[in-house]
Amino acid sequence: MDFELSEAQQRFRAEVRDFLAALPPSTSAAVHDSGTLHSWDVHRAMTERGWLAAAWPVEQGGQGRDPFEMATLNEEFARAGIPIEGWLISELVAKTLQIVGTEQQRREVIPAILSGAALMSLGYSEPDSGSDVAAARTRAIRDGDGWVIDGQKMFTTMAHEASHVFLLARTNPDVPKHRGLTMFLVPLDAEGVEIRPVPTLGGERTNATFYEGVRVPDSARVGEVDGGWDVMMVALAFERQPAAAGHLLHLVERAVAWARTPGADGHPPIERPEVRAALARAATDLEVSRLMGYRMTWLTARDVLPHTEGSLAKLFSSEALMRAAASFEDVLGADGLLAGHGTGAPADGWIEHEFRHSVVTTIYAGTSEIQRGIIAERHLGLPRERQARA
Ligand SMILES: Cc1cc2nc3c(=O)[nH]c(=O)nc-3n(C[C@H](O)[C@H](O)[C@H](O)COP(=O)(O)OP(=O)(O)OC[C@H]3O[C@@H](n4cnc5c(N)ncnc54)[C@H](O)[C@@H]3O)c2cc1C
Repeated sequence: MDFELSEAQQRFRAEVRDFLAALPPSTSAAVHDSGTLHSWDVHRAMTERGWLAAAWPVEQGGQGRDPFEMATLNEEFARAGIPIEGWLISELVAKTLQIVGTEQQRREVIPAILSGAALMSLGYSEPDSGSDVAAARTRAIRDGDGWVIDGQKMFTTMAHEASHVFLLARTNPDVPKHRGLTMFLVPLDAEGVEIRPVPTLGGERTNATFYEGVRVPDSARVGEVDGGWDVMMVALAFERQPAAAGHLLHLVERAVAWARTPGADGHPPIERPEVRAALARAATDLEVSRLMGYRMTWLTARDVLPHTEGSLAKLFSSEALMRAAASFEDVLGADGLLAGHGTGAPADGWIEHEFRHSVVTTIYAGTSEIQRGIIAERHLGLPRERQARA
């Protein structure tokens, strides 16, 4: 096993670091404080570098970078605390379309995403169906050569910035629930779409989205009619990444910098054994999360879609992030309540921020309980916990 980056991969890492170092120093705090984990300035600068399409073949306008270079890019953005959720969501939709999309979608939508012209959001969850996403009630009904969509989605993150929502809708109520769903790519400026903000404890803005008589042509359909479940499984395989490992990297590096800086008593917190213990535990968890990420990268490099590996990595890294943030809050004591960036809060407020934010990483893209179920059934081969119901 060789964990060394090749020369080309190291060159790319240096290029990404230079790019990030040239961004205004306030970028990270500003993007987080906005609640929208997407910056158009960063997105445009990435577009100019061709990085939105970095992983794609040169024939498709990409740079043909290998999965390890892409992992490096993600790691450096995470280390710098620059969220790129808009791009990550859009790219997973592009990758899904590459596998299950029509010729027209591959020709028109993928280039629009890779050129930065189109930004995606995910419309799976509803007020009454999150974990049990197959119970979606938003309806799509055939109307001539198109469809009419009515319903409501919950937690449609990025919808207020995105051009489209990748929307799971019920097309057949008379078959077992996961067989009567179809996926659509719905423009968010279509008549009948309404977007309302939903603030979260972690400071992240998400949305409730409403669809009333929204008309889309049949060309907006992704995959077969009633085949939406299979489409979503492909998209979920791309989404279940150890994304929290990036947050953990950022948090541990900020916490180490804080622990090394002398406090008001003239002593750096690292002198306290409980601080060293918390940092050592978090650093170990970070290393495990990274290795799980490398395994997924290695599978991707072999054209294997990581399924249970994604669940393992997502579960571990998100819970490790929550554990680390909580243990740093413990050693901070009352100072851990100080919040905000540039306010004098410990670690410039990143520990307090991550303590609130880390919780959602154990919820979205499938909660920890759902990941445990998947691991028990598909990785360990244990009996199904629940039977599929109509
Ligand atoms: C900040 C944020 C952003 C999000 N962004 C998006 C997005 O962009 N697009 C999108 O479609 N969704 C998004 N989601 C929704 C997210 O995927 C759901 O919140 C999640 O799937 C859980 O669904 P729920 O909230 O309805 O909770 P529920 O499914 O009602 O679950 C409630 C509790 O019951 C547990 N539970 C449920 N079923 C089982 C089971 N079978 N076994 C054991 N325990 C179970 C859960 O683990 C949880 O603890 C986002 C959520 C958040 C918080």
